[in-house]
Amino acid sequence: MPIYEYHCENCNNDFEYLVFGSEKPDCPSCSSKKVLRMMSACGFVSKGSSGETVSSSASSSSCNGCSATSCSSCSH
Ligand SMILES: [Zn+2]
Repeated sequence: MPIYEYHCENCNNDFEYLVFGSEKPDCPSCSSKKVLRMMSACGFVSKGSSGETVSSSASSSSCNGCSATSCSSCSH
């Protein structure tokens, strides 16, 4: 199950949301529907701090680690 990062255009709140299907979340802060999904975070293949490319198969498991730190280490 993918965890996506969202950005609320209404209050500029950034949050993570566990998405089922094509469900679109409300902003947990202001309940606005004007949220943008950020193509980023844990599943994104990039050169991380380890210096090696992480395969897509590890995306879900790596999400467990970074979700504990609100993806601060892997997204930005
Ligand atoms: Zn909001």
